[in-house]
Amino acid sequence: MAPPVNTLLEAHDLHKSFGGVHAVGGVSFRVAPASVFAIIGPNGAGKSTMLNLLAGVHRPDSGRLVLDGVDVTGLKPHRRAHLGIARTFQKIRLFRSLSVLDNVAAGFHTKHRIPAWQYVLPGAAARADRRQFRHEAADLLEFVGLSHRATVDAGSLSYGEQRMLELARALATGPRLLMVDEPAAGLNNIEADLLLDQLVALRNRGMAVILIEHNMDLVTRVADHVMVMNHGQLLFAGTPSAMQSDPAVIEAYLGVELE
Ligand code: ADP
Ligand code: MG
Repeated sequence: MAPPVNTLLEAHDLHKSFGGVHAVGGVSFRVAPASVFAIIGPNGAGKSTMLNLLAGVHRPDSGRLVLDGVDVTGLKPHRRAHLGIARTFQKIRLFRSLSVLDNVAAGFHTKHRIPAWQYVLPGAAARADRRQFRHEAADLLEFVGLSHRATVDAGSLSYGEQRMLELARALATGPRLLMVDEPAAGLNNIEADLLLDQLVALRNRGMAVILIEHNMDLVTRVADHVMVMNHGQLLFAGTPSAMQSDPAVIEAYLGVELE
């Protein structure tokens, strides 16, 4: 008998339409803990819609999502965040006039004991909690290489630095599953390499990472498992090396750069 498959996230037959557009049309997959799971496909394939389904921004028209045995299909994004799902956005979203450190600290409210509004009108509990946050936030800034930028406004960071800050803020929620949407877009090669190294480091510490990416090269360097989407459908699922020799993938993309 085959050993049981170690699964953190299971997606069963997910469907999502917008008007007449079937953005995600019946896709199922499993993500193992301590793995990088890449979702790849051309523009309009349904990758961001899939990520929004996983994050709870969209409800699927049908299908089911199970996180570590818990059905999360009907849960709102903040409930999923409490259960350990974090994400970054394809278009960067930061508090531009808050400091870099405070942007990361803002990510902590999902895992701490007092409600977020108390940080606006802080009492003693909030002050103690906030000190702890800032300590942990400083550690996360070090992880993403932004310690030296901790006190400047997020809006004054370079594009690449903003991407790193987004990653640190997502990590502040203490996720078991981190989802990143085209994180290398707009980065130079050095920045992209650093980012990939960090995703691998997180994977090695036990985190599951869902990497949405259009760049096939980049995916083959870090992914343990790849799912190729096309027109909202699953075109291929398997290892990066199997993907590169898969007839359906070759036929769909022969001579065509994934973009
Ligand atoms: P990808 O991220 O792979 O480029 P998307 O998931 O963004 O693809 O889009 C898949 C399809 O769904 C596209 O045809 C897109 O125009 C459509 N779509 C995505 N989000 C919405 C939305 N909120 N409203 C209407 N159509 C949408
Ligand atoms: Mg997208």
